[in-house]
Amino acid sequence: MTGLRTTGAAVVAGVVGNPIAHSLSPTLHNAWLAAAEIDGAYVPFAPGDEVAFERLLEGFRGGVVRGVNVTLPFKVAALSRANGADPTARAAGAANLLLFEPDGRIEARNTDGTGLLAAFAEQAPGVDLATGPVVVLGAGGAAQGAAVALRDAGSPLIRIVNRTMARAEALALRVAGEAYEIDACAQAFDGAVAIVNATSVGLPGVEGPPWPLDAAPQTAAVMDMVYRPLETPLLSAARARGMPTVDGLAMLIGQARPSFEAFYGQPPPASVDARVVLSEAMA
Ligand code: NDP
Repeated sequence: MTGLRTTGAAVVAGVVGNPIAHSLSPTLHNAWLAAAEIDGAYVPFAPGDEVAFERLLEGFRGGVVRGVNVTLPFKVAALSRANGADPTARAAGAANLLLFEPDGRIEARNTDGTGLLAAFAEQAPGVDLATGPVVVLGAGGAAQGAAVALRDAGSPLIRIVNRTMARAEALALRVAGEAYEIDACAQAFDGAVAIVNATSVGLPGVEGPPWPLDAAPQTAAVMDMVYRPLETPLLSAARARGMPTVDGLAMLIGQARPSFEAFYGQPPPASVDARVVLSEAMA
C-alpha cells in the first residue's frame, strides 16, 4: 500500500462529533485515500456544543472543505442547518453527511440506512427483509434512520420497541409501524424476520433488559449496531441459538462507502479490506 499523499491541493473532508477521539472514520477514510493515491485528507473535528457546531458549518460554507460526516450529538442539528436534503435524511430527521457546495449551500444526506442494508446483504444474504415484520430496538437517531431504511427496503411492518414509550410511538407513527413497551418485547419478536438493536445497550457500561430471543423464529437475523465490542451479548446469544447475525462494523463500513464517494468522486478502492483495517484499529 502506498502512503497518504496530502499536498496543498488536497481535497479535505472530515467527521464532526463530540466526543470524536474514538471515531474509526479517519482511520478508514485515510486508508482508502492512501490506497487510491488520492490527494486528500480526512480529519476529525470536535466542536464543544451546538453553537460551536453551527459556527464550524458557517466557516465551511463555500466548499473549502468538501464535506463532513456527522455523528453524535449533531445529526439532527446537521439536517436543520442544511439548505437542502435528500429524501432519506428528511425522512429520518437526521443527517450523517453534509456536502459544502461552491455556491455556499449545504446539502444533507443520510447514508446510515444504506449502511444498514449493505450490512444485511453482506452478512445475512439469505434473509429477505420484505417478507415479514422487522423489529427495531430503540427510538433514537440510529433507530430512526434504520426504521426509514427498512421501510424503504420494502419491510411490510416495522415494530419499534423502546424504553421510553412516547418515543417508540412517535417513530412508529413516522413509518406506519407498531410501538411496543420493552416489557412486551416478546410479542414484538413473534414472527419477526429480523431484529435490529439500535439502542446503546451493549456499549461498555450500558446494561439493558435481557432481549427474549426465544420468542423470535430461529431464522430471524439479529443485528447489533454497537461495534465496540464487536461481539455484543446480543450477538453472542443469537449465535448460541443458531440465528444469523449482522454486526455493527459492517454497517459502519457500509455508511462510509457512499460518504467517501461523495467527498472524493470515486468509490473506495477494492484493494483495502476495511474490516481488517478497522479490526486492527480497535485492537
Ligand atoms: P441515541 O442516544 O439517539 O438513542 C439511544 C437509544 O438507546 C434510545 O432509544 C434509548 O432509549 C436507548 N437506551 C439507552 N440506554 C438504554 C438502556 N439502559 N436500556 C434500554 N434502552 C436504552 O443514540 P443513537 O440512536 O445515535 O445510537 C444508538 C446506538 O447505535 C449507539 O450504540 C451507537 O454507537 C450505534 N450506532 C452505530 C452505527 C454504526 O454504523 N454501526 C451508526 C449509528 C449509531 P430512550 O429513548 O428510552 O432513552
